[in-house]
Order: sequence, then structure tokens, then C-alpha cells
Amino acid sequence: MAEVLVLGAGMVGVAAALELQTRGHAVVLVDRRGPGEETSFGNAGFVQGEAVEPYAMPRDLRTLAAYAVGRTNDLVYDPSALPRLAPVLWRYFRNSAPARHRRISAVYAQLVQRALADHAPLIEAAGQEPHIRRTGYLQIWRDARGAEAAAAETVRLIREYDVTVTALDGAAVAAAEPALKRPVAGGLLWGDCWTSDDPGALTVAYAELFTRRGGTVLRGEAASLARTGAGWQVDTASGPVGAAQAVIALGPWAPDLLARLGWRVAMLWKRGYHGHFAAPVRLQRPLIDADAGVVLSPMRRGLRIATGAALVARDAPSDPGQLLRGACAASELVEIGTRIAEPQWFGHRPCLPDMLPLVGAVPGEPGLWVDFGHGHQGFTLGPTTARLLADAMAGARTELLAALAPAARPEVMRAA
Ligand SMILES: Cc1cc2nc3c(=O)[nH]c(=O)nc-3n(C[C@H](O)[C@H](O)[C@H](O)COP(=O)(O)OP(=O)(O)OC[C@H]3O[C@@H](n4cnc5c(N)ncnc54)[C@H](O)[C@@H]3O)c2cc1C
Repeated sequence: MAEVLVLGAGMVGVAAALELQTRGHAVVLVDRRGPGEETSFGNAGFVQGEAVEPYAMPRDLRTLAAYAVGRTNDLVYDPSALPRLAPVLWRYFRNSAPARHRRISAVYAQLVQRALADHAPLIEAAGQEPHIRRTGYLQIWRDARGAEAAAAETVRLIREYDVTVTALDGAAVAAAEPALKRPVAGGLLWGDCWTSDDPGALTVAYAELFTRRGGTVLRGEAASLARTGAGWQVDTASGPVGAAQAVIALGPWAPDLLARLGWRVAMLWKRGYHGHFAAPVRLQRPLIDADAGVVLSPMRRGLRIATGAALVARDAPSDPGQLLRGACAASELVEIGTRIAEPQWFGHRPCLPDMLPLVGAVPGEPGLWVDFGHGHQGFTLGPTTARLLADAMAGARTELLAALAPAARPEVMRAA
């Protein structure tokens, strides 16, 4: 019998399995697919030591009006999904008020500021150095108003969090990125961000490290998780596997399993799409085209263009309009080349309405733990929350652990 079952082999579950193994536990990692084939496969590949504040929902009328009439591409929505999303959107909106967002950011920054240091030993041990760029990224605006507002905001971020960022005028942007075809108003050059040239492959490499160190990865269905006398048991392709403890690290699907166990989780699934393009010119570093609402990341497969958020039902059919509009707008700035043929990918950022991942014990369920809800930064934060989870499982009590634990967050997770 294993000591710990980790359910879900995305970046969050793989990192949790590795950390618990490092602390001496016999761990079995279970997923219905292979490691790193879902959200951790399709993201933009940023490991973001600079993303100290979680994405708040805009509250100013001008931006809200632009969203309402569909004038932006970074966020789109399906009006027919809004009634179902309204309760969680409302909580997200309330938590985006400046005072609350500041309190949340004080917790979030403690996670993000550890992220690079927590990935570093894994990247090295997994032999992934050649696939990580330490160039930071460039964020650009076509119009002066956007560029000036962003530059002004960095003054506060530097003062409060000591982030590494430089505001650039149009000429400096052109010098920093020779691949740009036309002038822009300005940009920000962000440091403290590493980027992977294949996020799914990095997750697989971490999973292989776990296996090399003696861990077991099995195909299995998390919905079969059941309490046994001694702990927890799940059905796998190799038969039932039991353990004293189980960790739910199912990302966007965690609420489904918790619902079976009698818990309601308020999750907002922010859908994102990506496509690859055979760009003839390689960018110096990843680029965020703020006006087009897309990220351009050079990857092994080609230039990956990934979208912002689409607020739609989680089971809504694929609608790549946001990706196509973003790619078309980005192609005014950069030669993106022809689209590489592949099935259309989309995935869901597992966002919780208070913008913090949920890490800790499930109240009243001995031996059951959660580690999910990493929203826009799960690829970044997997190894960091893994360490915090392992601390909590070892009995540690800190303010940070208390702030992330389900027990303190009935707005996010409560008995059904
Ligand atoms: C377009 C886009 C761009 C993004 N860019 C970035 C970025 O640049 N940097 C960053 O930090 N984050 C980024 N994110 C967010 C990041 O990708 C996610 O936060 C992160 O991947 C979540 O990891 P996870 O392990 O929790 O979930 P996942 O990677 O989705 O893993 C969950 C696992 O659970 C398994 N599973 C689900 N249900 C079951 C079941 N019933 N039984 C067994 N297994 C099951 C799945 O197969 C899957 O392997 C982006 C997201 C999107 C959509």
C-alpha cells in the first residue's frame, strides 16, 4: 500500500508527487491520461516570478463597457452562460475591490516570489535547462494611453514588490524586438520570468524524474476515490490502489470529484485557446500583445499564440474566434507565418473567486488533501504549493498555510 495517492498529473499534481517523495513518502500518481496532457500542456509556458498580483476583474466603467459590447479580445464571454456563472463572477468581482485585492495580493505575492527558486532544482534534476529561457518577456501597446498607464502602474509594483520591470518607449521597444514590423507606442520589459519551450514536455520531464526516483504513475479514474477503513482507495489500470492519504490535484476537474464527496466548490473556468504558427523570424523573447489580447511564445512546435479568457460553460463547444482575431491582430506587428495544422486545443484556467489556490486539509475528512485552483499561474506555482502542501501534511501551521486552507474559505469550498 502506498502512503499517498496524488490524483491528477498536471504540473500541480506532478510537483506535489515529487515533493512528497522527496520528504520520504511512497507516492502513487494517478491520472486518466498521461502526465501533462491537459491544461499544463497548452498554456503559454511562463514561469512567472513577476506576477505578484493575481488577475483582478476590472471594475472601472470604461473597461466593463468595452467588455460588455465585445470591444476587447483579451476577455470574451458567451451571454447565455452568464446566468450560470453569475454567482461566482459576483464573488470574483467583490474580491477585486482594491482593498480586498490588496489583502489577497499580499498572500499571492508570497507564493509567486518563491516560484522560480522552487522550479530551479526540478529543472536541473530533470535535465531541462536547454528548454528554459531566462529572457523575461516583452509586453507592448500600440496606443500611448495604454503604454503610459501600464508604465505608471509599474512604479507602484516596483515600490511594493521590488519586481524587475523596465518601461520602454516605442524606439526602445523596436530595439529590443527587431522582429516587430511596425512602431508601437511603448512597452514593458519584464524580468523574473522564465519560459518553457514546451510546457507539456516540462511536466512530463518532472513526472519522469518522479518515476526515476522510485515513484509510480498509473492510469486511473479519480471518480472512483472512496474511503476505506485505513484511508483512501482508487481504481487504476493495475487494479485498486490504497493509501493512508489522498491529494486532489485535478485542476479544472477538482470540483467534480469534491461534489461526489459532498463538497461544493465555486470555480470560474476561464477558457483559453492556442494555435501554432510557422513564424519565419524568431522573437528575442515571448511577447504579449496587450491590444490583441494574446501571448506569442516561441515553442518547439512553432510560434504558440495563446488567448486571454473566454467566459463560457466548461462543456461549451470549441469556438476559436478569439484566437483567430488575436492572431490576425498580432500579425500586423509580427510575421507569424502560416498556421501549423493540428486539432484545435483549448483548456480552462481553474480560477477561484478569491484568486488564491486551495491548499490543505479537507475539513472532517482525515487523510484527504487538496491542491488546486491555481488560475492563471498553475504552471508557475505547482512546485511552490507542492512544498506548502507537504508542510501542511507534516503538521506545520503558518499564517500562509491558514490563508490557503479550505477551512478558512467557505466562500470557495463548503459542504453541499
Ligand atoms: C491559454 C492558457 C495559458 C496559460 N498560460 C500560463 C502560463 O504561461 N503560466 C502559468 O503559470 N499558467 C498558465 N496557465 C494556467 C495553467 O496552465 C494552469 O493553472 C495549470 O496548468 C493547472 O495545472 P493543474 O495541474 O492544476 O491542472 P491540469 O494540468 O489540467 O491537470 C489536471 C489533471 O487531472 C486529470 N484528471 C481530470 N479529471 C480526472 C479524473 N476524473 N480522473 C483522473 N484524472 C483526471 C487530467 O487528465 C489532468 O492531467 C494558462 C492557462 C491557459 C488555459
